[in-house]
Amino acid sequence: MNVFSHPDFDDHEKVLFGSDPASGLKAIIAVHNTNRGPALGGCRMWPYNNDNEAMRDVLRLSRGMTYKSALANLPLGGGKAVIIGNPREQKTPELLRAMGRLIESVSGHYITAEDSGTSVPDLKIMAEETSYVAGIHEKHCLDGQLRSGDPSPSTAYGVFVGLKSAVQYRLGTNDLSGLKVAVQGVGNVGFRLAKHLKEAGAELWVTDIYDDMVKRCVNELGATAVSSDEIFGLDVDVFAPCAMGSILNNHTIEQLKAKVIAGAANNQLENDAIHGEALRNKGILYAPDYAINSGGIIDVCYERLGNDDPDALNQHIESVHDTLMEIFSRSDSEQQSTHIIADAVARERFANPRNIHQAA
Ligand code: NAD
Repeated sequence: MNVFSHPDFDDHEKVLFGSDPASGLKAIIAVHNTNRGPALGGCRMWPYNNDNEAMRDVLRLSRGMTYKSALANLPLGGGKAVIIGNPREQKTPELLRAMGRLIESVSGHYITAEDSGTSVPDLKIMAEETSYVAGIHEKHCLDGQLRSGDPSPSTAYGVFVGLKSAVQYRLGTNDLSGLKVAVQGVGNVGFRLAKHLKEAGAELWVTDIYDDMVKRCVNELGATAVSSDEIFGLDVDVFAPCAMGSILNNHTIEQLKAKVIAGAANNQLENDAIHGEALRNKGILYAPDYAINSGGIIDVCYERLGNDDPDALNQHIESVHDTLMEIFSRSDSEQQSTHIIADAVARERFANPRNIHQAA
C-alpha cells in the first residue's frame, strides 16, 4: 500500500498505523494539518474491504476536516481515525480501550469524536485511556435540551443562517415568508432546519425514505410530502439536501428549478469540477457543503474548549454568513464556482492562521 505516493496523500503531517492483536484492533490515524491547532475529527469504524479503502478514507476525511475547521475560523486542524472492522460484530470494550491508547500516543495532536460506527458510549470507553476525546459531556444544546454528543441542533442552525445568506445574495431578500423550500431528508438536521424555516414563514416540501419522518413534518410543520424522485424537479426557490452525498449529479441538476442550493449533507457534488461548474452555468447558487454545515464542528470545539457560553456559540455559528458572502462575491468576481472559492478561502485560513475566532 502506497502512502507518500497515494493519490489522496496531501502532505499529511502524520499517518499512524496501530494494531493490538489481543483486542483485534487495526486502525489508522491521519493528522492532515495542525497549523491552526490540534487535529479534531471523528473516529469511524467500518468493515473496509481492504487496507487501501481505509487508507483512502482516512486521508480524504482528515484533509476535509482541515478545510472545514479553517473555513469556520476554529482553532483546530484536521484529522480523522478509522478502525477497520464491523462495528456490529467486532466492537468490544477492549478494542475501544486499545483505540484510546493509540489516540493517547499521538499526544494531543489528534482529538477524536463520534462518527459512523462509533457512538458517545464508545467514546466514553476510549476516554478511560485518553483525554483527547470530544463530544462526550452533557450540555444544554441550542434547542434547550440537555444532551451529549449530538451537534445536530447547531448544524441545523448554521444551515438555516447560511440558507438565508444564499437567498439574500441570489434572490435579493432577507424575508423568508412565502419562500418555497424543498428539503431532502428530514432526520436530525433536516427536521430542525425545516422547523427554523417554518418559523420564518417558508413553505415546505419534504421527502424521506421513512414515512414517519415525513409525517412528522406534515403534521407538525404543515409541509407537503413528495416522493424521493419528485423532490428535485419542484418549482421551488431553494433545494436543501439533508440526506446523503453525491446528490448533485447529471441526473438531478438537469431537473433542478431552484435558484439556491443550501443544505447539510456532506459531499453533495458527485464530481466537484463537473457538477460545481454545471450549477454555476445554470445560474444556481450553491452554498458549499462544508462551509454551510460547520455548526456541528463549532459546537464540538466549544465543548472541547470548555466554553459553555451559548451566545458566543451562536455568534460563532452565525459567522457562516460572512464566510458564505465572501465565497459568493469572490465566485462572481473571479468567475469560478463556489466550491473552488471555498477551498481557496480555507487554504488561505490554514496556511496563514491569523484569523482564529477569539471566542473559541
Ligand atoms: P440523519 O440520518 O438523522 O438524517 C438523514 C435523513 O435522510 C434520514 O431521515 C434518512 O431516512 C433520509 N434519507 C436517506 N436517504 C434518502 C433519500 N434517498 N431520499 C430522502 N431521504 C433520505 O442524518 P443527519 O444527522 O440529519 O445528517 C444529514 C446529513 O448532514 C448527512 O449527510 C450528514 O453527513 C450531514 N451532516 C450532519 C451533521 C450533524 O451535526 N448531524 C453535521 C454535518 C453534516
